Amino acid sequence: MSIIKDIVKKIKEYDTIIIHGHEHPDGDCLGSQFGLKDIIKATWPNKKVYAVGESSDYLAFMGEVDVVEDDTFKGALSIIVDLANAERASDKRFNLSAFRIRIDHHIKIETFADIEYVDDKCSSCAEIIANIAFDNKLKMTLDGAYALYTGIVTDTGRFKFNSITKRTFDTAGRLLDMGIVPQDIDNNLAADTPESLKLKGYVLSNFEMVDGKFAYIKMTRDIIERFGVTDEEAANNVTMLSTIKGVLTWALFIEYEDHKLKIRIRSKGPRINDLAAKYNGGGHAMASGAKMNSWDDVEPFIKDMMEVVNNYTK
Ligand code: AMP
Repeated sequence: MSIIKDIVKKIKEYDTIIIHGHEHPDGDCLGSQFGLKDIIKATWPNKKVYAVGESSDYLAFMGEVDVVEDDTFKGALSIIVDLANAERASDKRFNLSAFRIRIDHHIKIETFADIEYVDDKCSSCAEIIANIAFDNKLKMTLDGAYALYTGIVTDTGRFKFNSITKRTFDTAGRLLDMGIVPQDIDNNLAADTPESLKLKGYVLSNFEMVDGKFAYIKMTRDIIERFGVTDEEAANNVTMLSTIKGVLTWALFIEYEDHKLKIRIRSKGPRINDLAAKYNGGGHAMASGAKMNSWDDVEPFIKDMMEVVNNYTK
């Protein structure tokens, strides 16, 4: 694939490479950032490679992001991974770099890099990056393999979603062959605190349903503070609503400290990415995210969601 060849050529060309992800990074975002950083460092040890942006407490086992001054971007190559829209980048300074590459697997809604490789049929950005390494005989250490495997595991819901293909398993198999112990990753990802476990109990008792087809939970500041959990721990509870019989779509609304809201939206049938786009978001057909300014916007969102759900035919 010639875009991939161009990407590898550009990586070879630049001495300083800065890898960006998205705000509130998930396992695929950080796994892709750390995995790609590892591949480039292992293959070209003299290059300066940084992964920038936000860290995540529950993914800290993968590593910490780098702090980089503005000057570092001069003449550098920025590679942006797992990002659908530039506005959602966790470090937007890729505009200071000499050249930009984007590697992503979201449904394409905008172009913001000089070379873009976007495969929205791929399970995870980490799967794309692992295959760039395998297909081009680039090197990778065990740490890189762990990061990429974590990206695949988290973005496929532990190999559960329809986004997985034979290639997903082949890729995971090749990473396993490098020496990964899958239980290590699961132990890190599954770590509950007493507080986060109690919050799960709250979610199970307090979610709301509309017409038996849409379920949602509101994570207000008050709840997050009352249970003493991090924003991430609170946001992770979106998965708790996935098993209710008859429910086609579900969502978690979370209020951040600045009182702005994020919605995590999931589906088992209707495509939800257009609805997410209407609310300043985007993502995948079955897993999207969006933003709101206040709780007042929730009611119109639910109305729009019910239209999506009620118009759905298999
Ligand atoms: P999340 O609920 O954060 O796991 O997001 C689900 C999917 O939607 C991920 O692939 C995100 O990258 C994407 N997504 C989440 N929030 C936004 C947003 N505000 N704009 C565009 N895409 C988003």
